Amino acid sequence: MAVITTDMLIIGTSPAGSATAALPSSYGVENMVVNRYHLLANTPRAHITNQRMMEVLRDLGQEVEAEAYMRAAEQDLMDENMFCKSLAGEEIGRMKS
Ligand SMILES: Cc1cc2nc3c(=O)[nH]c(=O)nc-3n(C[C@H](O)[C@H](O)[C@H](O)COP(=O)(O)OP(=O)(O)OC[C@H]3O[C@@H](n4cnc5c(N)ncnc54)[C@H](O)[C@@H]3O)c2cc1C
Repeated sequence: MAVITTDMLIIGTSPAGSATAALPSSYGVENMVVNRYHLLANTPRAHITNQRMMEVLRDLGQEVEAEAYMRAAEQDLMDENMFCKSLAGEEIGRMKS
């Protein structure tokens, strides 16, 4: 069995785990991220990124922020978020994604 030494062990290669690893890395703090599974999710889970997320990407560097913009879908391809009482129930409102 291999013995691995690291300053910081992060469990979960998720948004929280990845950010928890990337931010100290940008200050040179050694860390390791491990995950229970060796596969990525088979469906997209980051269609919509909020302002705080974009601030974190900016903190990671201009090139990271620029890559996010490069890979982003055009606004006109995004539709609207709908708020409903149930899946097929009364619509309360909607806003642009
Ligand atoms: C279909 C779908 C679409 C989505 N779209 C968006 C979107 O457009 N925008 C948005 O902001 N959010 C979206 N979300 C929500 C977003 O994916 C979650 O809010 C986000 O993934 C939560 O991140 P997290 O780091 O808290 O936890 P998680 O993503 O749940 O990550 C936890 C990680 O820890 C690992 N783990 C757990 N236990 C262990 C263990 N014991 N040992 C090792 N590893 C472990 C898991 O395998 C997992 O990788 C979407 C979700 C789904 C399902």
